[in-house]
Amino acid sequence: IPALELISLKKIYKNGIEALKGIDLTVQAGDFYALLGPNGAGKSTTIGIISSLVTKTCGQVKIFGYDLDTDIVNAKRQLGIVPQEFNFNQFEEVLQIVTNQGGYYGLPRKIALERAEKYLRVLDLWDKRHSRANMLSGGMKRRLMIARALIHEPKLLILDEPTAGVDIELRRSMWDFLREINRQGITIILTTHYLEEAEMLCRNIGIIQSGKLIANSSMRELLAKS
Ligand code: ADP
Ligand code: ADP
Repeated sequence: IPALELISLKKIYKNGIEALKGIDLTVQAGDFYALLGPNGAGKSTTIGIISSLVTKTCGQVKIFGYDLDTDIVNAKRQLGIVPQEFNFNQFEEVLQIVTNQGGYYGLPRKIALERAEKYLRVLDLWDKRHSRANMLSGGMKRRLMIARALIHEPKLLILDEPTAGVDIELRRSMWDFLREINRQGITIILTTHYLEEAEMLCRNIGIIQSGKLIANSSMRELLAKS
């Protein structure tokens, strides 16, 4: 079963902008996939639809075979999302932000705490667990979003421009972390407008432009052509 299937996905915003003009995309389980495209191409819209924050105009989304319209609970259980904007409560403590997310998925408090500790440690945030989120640096906030997205141990992790605004040093350690969790079996999809980032990390790549998928291949094939 593929990790993600998008079938004829379309989005027309109320202002008439056709952000997605029929996207067909399958990402296999275990893949590390990049969705590359310039600003305005439709990457965030795609992720918005997958995370149920944006309503699609038509088409279908399946996550590990679960249809997002008809099987939303199962679909969401498989899915962790790291949006581009920091969307946690900036006045809450780091540990609280991560464990509360466990609550949304019905995790017992004890398990949520254990997992929060595990992910905050590997993401080098454990020392900051009692800091309010607004005291963290941009890179730390990004890692907090990743820890929060992993608390229910999703099989598919989707990150929207995960290293935007993150300095090169930290970018490297984030890349290492993502590679490691992919090795452990988590399917990863990230959006980026840096080809180098996609090249560095991803096995397969889709290129989106003006709401259409204009290429979809292995990274090796893409690089051989260019
Ligand atoms: P939906 O069709 O998913 O309900 P809307 O068309 O209502 O979405 O737009 C959602 C919000 O995004 C609105 O508040 C709108 O003002 C804002 N918005 C409008 N145009 C843009 C744009 N070009 N980029 C980002 N946000 C926008
Ligand atoms: P990307 O993430 O690749 O930069 P987006 O999905 O944000 O692209 O945007 C795709 C297109 O849809 C752009 O033309 C953008 O201006 C428009 N758009 C994005 N969000 C909204 C919104 N909420 N309302 C109206 N138009 C939007």
